[in-house]
Amino acid sequence: MRRIEISLVFLVMACSSNLSERPASPPPDRPGGASRDAAAPATVPRPVAEGRPTSPERDAGRPARPFVPQRLPDGYLHYTDACLPGTQVTIAAVGDLLVHHELQRQALKAKNGFVAIWEPVVDLLAKAELTYANLEGPTARGLDRQGNKTPDPGKRFDDKVYTGYPRFNYHPSIARDLVTSGVDIVSMANNHALDRAALGLDRTLDVLDSAGLNHFGARRQGTDAPWYVVTEINGVALAWVGCTLYTNQPDKHGQVMHCFKKPDRVTPLVRKLAQTPTIDAVIVTPHMGKEYVPNPGKKEQKLVRKLLDAGALAVIGSHPHVLQPWEKHVTPDGRETFTLFSLGNFCSHQRPLPRRSSMILFLGLTKGHDGVTRVNGARYVPLHVRMEGDMERFFVEAIDRAGGPQDSRALTTAMFGELNIIAPEDPIVTNPHCDPTWPHHVK
Ligand SMILES: [Zn+2]
Repeated sequence: MRRIEISLVFLVMACSSNLSERPASPPPDRPGGASRDAAAPATVPRPVAEGRPTSPERDAGRPARPFVPQRLPDGYLHYTDACLPGTQVTIAAVGDLLVHHELQRQALKAKNGFVAIWEPVVDLLAKAELTYANLEGPTARGLDRQGNKTPDPGKRFDDKVYTGYPRFNYHPSIARDLVTSGVDIVSMANNHALDRAALGLDRTLDVLDSAGLNHFGARRQGTDAPWYVVTEINGVALAWVGCTLYTNQPDKHGQVMHCFKKPDRVTPLVRKLAQTPTIDAVIVTPHMGKEYVPNPGKKEQKLVRKLLDAGALAVIGSHPHVLQPWEKHVTPDGRETFTLFSLGNFCSHQRPLPRRSSMILFLGLTKGHDGVTRVNGARYVPLHVRMEGDMERFFVEAIDRAGGPQDSRALTTAMFGELNIIAPEDPIVTNPHCDPTWPHHVK
């Protein structure tokens, strides 16, 4: 088993901890929901996917003097300094975890729980050093739709405590199932975060902490816990900041970071984190945009520019339920940044093809010998949600492994280009053009 170390760094508390080899079994629940909070930050040992690569090993085979490609094909996303030597970190990102009632029924009957939904791509989730998802809904025990206390039904879909749209609540076992699937970090800044009201969000954060699933973008009532979390991999410290367009239920206790509310709190936070010497890069995951629209609006584009110009290196959006394009933006201070406006639905029961088509994004970063962390490239594996029966069972699949559906694949490649795809069985390389033998160099 390879080893990976991830530590959470809390600027305010100056506290960090190392995590070691994946335990044979998931970490035990901590009684009373003991968890990270402003008063007593603590990190929870969490499993790390088997066979997960580490950067030094991937660096080992690279040439001492980087190859500098002269001409690259159209439609291939590339970054000027992609081939500079340094420590490489690859982040995987998937879109909204929307576990509608059909999927919850399926998961709670399955031996492997929620993993049953995305089992065909578990190996891919674990391929990057750090894997992110948007957890679109609470995981709160013993609360009804209004957020009132009620007896918990246990691990079954009762449609009272555990419910689907429009007020989601997932059985807490989803958190550990995500961790064992290789997901390391989730954003809770989304419109469903308060679907079990304030107490539901408190209980959700307890569940995530107990499972060892890093989270950001939301806080418990009455605390001033940070809106961000910092993950450290191979000496590369990434600050994660989340925000949402709105919450479906009122945010009475100011528990969720908002993207557009006045006064703007996101941009100053990004600026502060970007200027913090111990942080190498800031990644923002805004939950925003018009639902079912395949392009970002002016409002979203403006926010993204503001966040990047304030110091963020990458912005990874979600919420529209469909994919929206990616782009490279060069900031006024000359940094080449990355944005993907919407990752679509990672899982859902939504039928239309665009809402069942998504991707695993692999974003590569390199911390150079000059100490500067840059984007080295972005690649993707096209995904779709396969439906079995009449909305009875759902499976997230990699299209190029499953052999289709080609119409879903065509939608995705039309937006992100064929050359930027990674075959599911290939090693994750986000800057393949740095290899002189890459077959697509333009002669
Ligand atoms: Zn949403």
